[in-house]
Amino acid sequence: MIDTHCHVDLYPSPAKVIKEIDRRGVYVLAVTTTPKAYRGNIRLVENSKRIRVAVGLHPELVAERHREIDELCKLMAGTRYVGEVGIDGSPEHTASRGLQFDVFSTALCRAEELGGKIISIHSRSASGLVLDAIEKHVVKSTPILHWFSGPLRDLKRAIDLGCWFSVGPAMLRSKKGSELVAQMPIDRILPETDGPFASDGKSPLMPWDSQQVNPKIAEIWKSSDAFVRSTFRSNFERLLVRPEPVSHA
Ligand code: MN
Repeated sequence: MIDTHCHVDLYPSPAKVIKEIDRRGVYVLAVTTTPKAYRGNIRLVENSKRIRVAVGLHPELVAERHREIDELCKLMAGTRYVGEVGIDGSPEHTASRGLQFDVFSTALCRAEELGGKIISIHSRSASGLVLDAIEKHVVKSTPILHWFSGPLRDLKRAIDLGCWFSVGPAMLRSKKGSELVAQMPIDRILPETDGPFASDGKSPLMPWDSQQVNPKIAEIWKSSDAFVRSTFRSNFERLLVRPEPVSHA
C-alpha cells in the first residue's frame, strides 16, 4: 500500500497512526505545511522505514508565513522530497496569490539548484498559475500534482510538462474527478489520501485508505484491482528508484 500525500502529523494521535502505518506496511510520503513541522515530523518517523518526510510551506499559510521560505530553502538541501507547496486561488486566498506564486517559484528554483526534487503540489483554483511556474522553472524535478481539479486543458498541459498525479478516494467521489483521472497517463498516477483533511464522508481518511481508489480506477481503466495495484507499485518504484540526479550547484 502506498499513500503519496498524507499529513501524518495532523492526526489527533500521530504516534498511533505511525505505529499502524508500520504494522500494515504502508509506504507514505508525509507532507508538511511548515518548515518547523518538517523538523518535528523527522523526529516522529525516525524509526519508520517506509515513511519519507517532505518539507513544505502550504500555500494557504503563505500570506502569514512567507518569510519561512528561507528556512524551506535551507531544509530542502537535506531531503529528496518537497511538499506541500503550490498555489491556492480560492476566494479566501486570492489576496496572497502573487506572494504564493513567488514563494512557489522560489522553491522550484531552489529544487533545480539542488539537482531536482520530488515535489507534491497543491493547485486548487490555480492550475494555470502553477503550470506557468512549472513550465518556467522545472527541468530536473518531478512535480506531482496532488488532487488535481483544474480544467481539462490544464490537465493536458500538465501531462505535456511531464507532471505526475496523485489521486485519492475523495477526488474519485466526484464525477469531474473521475473524468480527469480517466485522462491521466497510467504510468504517472499514484494513490494518496490527503488525510486527515480529506474524509470518506464521515471520518478522516487514514493512510491505508488510499487503496479505496483501486476498484474505481480499475473501472476507469477497464482492468482489475490487481492490475491497478501492480501499476501503482511499478510507478512508485520508477519514481523513487530512479538514480539521484547529479547536482551542478
Ligand atoms: Mn494536503
